[in-house]
Amino acid sequence: MSLYEALCQIVGEDSISRDELDLLCYSHDLAPLPQELLKSFGMLNPEVVVRPRSTEEVSRVVEYANRENLPITPWGAATWSLGGVLPIEGGIVLDLSGLNEIYEFSPGNEYVRVGAGLVWKRLMDFLGTRGFEVGVHPTSAPSATVGGFIATGGGSGVGVTQYGSLGDQLLSLKVVLADGRIIDTDPWDSWFFVGSEGTLGIICEVVLKIYPKGEMKHLMYGFDALDHGVGFLQFLNGIRPHFYSFLDEEFIRFLNQKEKDLPGKELTVAVTLSGTPEEIAVYEKKIDEACQGEKYLEPLAVEEWEERFKIVLSLKSLGPTFFSQEIRIPIRFLGKVLVELKELLKNERYLIEGVGGDFGSIHILPLIMTDERKKSEFFRTFSLASSIAEIGYKYHGSIYGIGLYNTSHLPRIHGHSLNVMRDIKHAFDPKRILNPSKTTQMRIPAFLFNAVPRMMGSAPGLVSTFLKAVNLLPGRLIRAGLRLMGGKLR
Ligand SMILES: Cc1cc2nc3c(=O)[nH]c(=O)nc-3n(C[C@H](O)[C@H](O)[C@H](O)COP(=O)(O)OP(=O)(O)OC[C@H]3O[C@@H](n4cnc5c(N)ncnc54)[C@H](O)[C@@H]3O)c2cc1C
Repeated sequence: MSLYEALCQIVGEDSISRDELDLLCYSHDLAPLPQELLKSFGMLNPEVVVRPRSTEEVSRVVEYANRENLPITPWGAATWSLGGVLPIEGGIVLDLSGLNEIYEFSPGNEYVRVGAGLVWKRLMDFLGTRGFEVGVHPTSAPSATVGGFIATGGGSGVGVTQYGSLGDQLLSLKVVLADGRIIDTDPWDSWFFVGSEGTLGIICEVVLKIYPKGEMKHLMYGFDALDHGVGFLQFLNGIRPHFYSFLDEEFIRFLNQKEKDLPGKELTVAVTLSGTPEEIAVYEKKIDEACQGEKYLEPLAVEEWEERFKIVLSLKSLGPTFFSQEIRIPIRFLGKVLVELKELLKNERYLIEGVGGDFGSIHILPLIMTDERKKSEFFRTFSLASSIAEIGYKYHGSIYGIGLYNTSHLPRIHGHSLNVMRDIKHAFDPKRILNPSKTTQMRIPAFLFNAVPRMMGSAPGLVSTFLKAVNLLPGRLIRAGLRLMGGKLR
């Protein structure tokens, strides 16, 4: 029986596609990488896309893939842009958006049980009309799925500074393991799957802590001096408001081009408080007292909050392409990191955004504008991703998320514990069928990884020509070449 026929028996013909256009769509995420760069990863095309509607169906599909030794790549909404959803070894794409039900709402016990493919905004709207809210959500809430945010770590987003990372909000998960078994985790076991990027199990159901909906207040401040803005952000980290973020001067300039009228300050900081009116008043007073900058009128802060979901995507009008390497650093180094980033990027078109993260961290997103159609320019700017990561490492931080494109950073991130991570992966998934070539495997060998960004920076034209030549090679040859050089393919 063919793969298609076998899967039809499990999920039915309507929930499976091998249409060429579908397969093409499921071979890309939001990142604007040129085709030849993707091809240099030795990427294979998926054979089918399956959209299961229940945990049992997921279990049977995974059991089948395990028996047949077929790669299987979980797919939420593909809003992450590190290549994590790319079915790089071909096989089955498992689109989990069909697991989108709200199974149970328990206001008395303050939890909700939902399908992992449910989109955050739908859950937030459902809870909001019933007087409840989630503790933490990503700013991509209108499209990102609950399972996708768990799988990518949930350490940066709205609510994280008040409630901790998303991992702290998980009461239980229903997960399908690599052999098809279904397990229910307790809050501690759930952590195995937080940030596992779809490589240890398929998250199918989530029991999430919820909270009675509090009042919210949005504040905004501007700072002429970087030091004052940085000191203010460090103060905010200490008192843990619901959410805080900052934008640099360039970002404000961009917003003003879009018919805003914000003062052109070195750093602009937005803060959201949540709680009872009395709690909010106490917090606001403390924050105002700590501020050595200018406090803006409330409507400006409210407007910024309401636009939080779309602001980053609107940057496309500047690019037309932009990319980012998100770094997560201890907030005590924020000042030094910003100075070094600005020095590194001084000849680029860039904006910087930052958001408070978990464990006293701040996540910094330098957004660099480029044009993917002009290959040399694109490769030159793309090479900066490694230099940005280096600044993060220098200040005891790291890049946030590995996916496919950052796998070559693995030794830098984990050091000696990388082998332990590989052992864990082996214990969960001995045949390496679950999202292969991600999280613990370096696809591009380290020496190439170190050399290529330098070459992209100094001789982007050469790299572009080289990649064009690579693009003409059959995929088999590229994969053989990567293997020969020590790259780890499945
Ligand atoms: C405008 C914008 C704002 C963003 N804001 C934030 C933010 O505030 N915080 C933040 O952390 N990120 C943010 N992101 C990045 C991204 O949106 C989030 O990481 C999001 O949670 C990913 O969800 P998804 O459903 O799109 O996952 P996908 O992109 O579909 O998948 C991400 C990874 O998780 C795996 N995966 C997906 N679902 C499952 C599952 N059910 N079981 C196992 N593995 C699975 C995939 O294989 C892949 O490796 C933002 C992105 C954009 C474009």
